[in-house]
Amino acid sequence: MSDHALKFVILGEGRVGKTSILTRYFSKKFNEGEKSTVNPAFHEKKHTYNGKNFDLKFWDTAGQEQFNAINNMYYQNSVGALLVYDVTIPETFEKVKSWVNTLQEVVGKDIIFVIAGNKFDLAKKNMLDENKAQIDNYCEQEKCQHFYTSAKTGFNLEETFNSLITSVMKKMENENFGGNKKGRGRKLEIKEQSDVKEKKKCC
Ligand code: GDP
Ligand code: MG
Repeated sequence: MSDHALKFVILGEGRVGKTSILTRYFSKKFNEGEKSTVNPAFHEKKHTYNGKNFDLKFWDTAGQEQFNAINNMYYQNSVGALLVYDVTIPETFEKVKSWVNTLQEVVGKDIIFVIAGNKFDLAKKNMLDENKAQIDNYCEQEKCQHFYTSAKTGFNLEETFNSLITSVMKKMENENFGGNKKGRGRKLEIKEQSDVKEKKKCC
């Protein structure tokens, strides 16, 4: 049987490190002067959960976020999202909230997401302390996990992706992998690999 294809997206302000996080996690590389144009539209990873095989695709933006030009196709059919901000620029955390709002408008309120406070290697302790309370409040309200990460050192990337993937798997399990009519909330859409038409660039 072919794998179930699941789409994940990464969101956040320009330059917070989205592409670097994906490159570091999937290719174990870090480029000091990361340029979005040379990167693939998505990274792929096989995953097995409870005897089922999944083909996880993590989509990256092509830099459109810098012009507020992400169209709905980017979000559509995603089952999980990684929201990224830069710990050295507190306003980028504020912007996470509006990215989440847009994501929820397109995909539904119960989309699973995890927040990454990236560039932890550059963080000053007082800077983190000042913002921690509002981050904790927001995460409690939205029932999401938050991790400090560094695409430069790789710090916490495994934990962040594991948390996101596991949360999605658990949610799908609760909904009996899309086949349980009693499943609560929006059902996650699972497509067979052959049904997913891959485009070179999403949007
Ligand atoms: P994007 O626009 O969100 O995709 O951000 P990029 O991945 O293109 O990164 C923007 C800049 O931040 C690049 O110069 C990266 O090298 C740098 N960068 C990304 N992540 C980190 C990190 O964790 N630590 C440090 N020190 N620099 C980072
Ligand atoms: Mg990028």
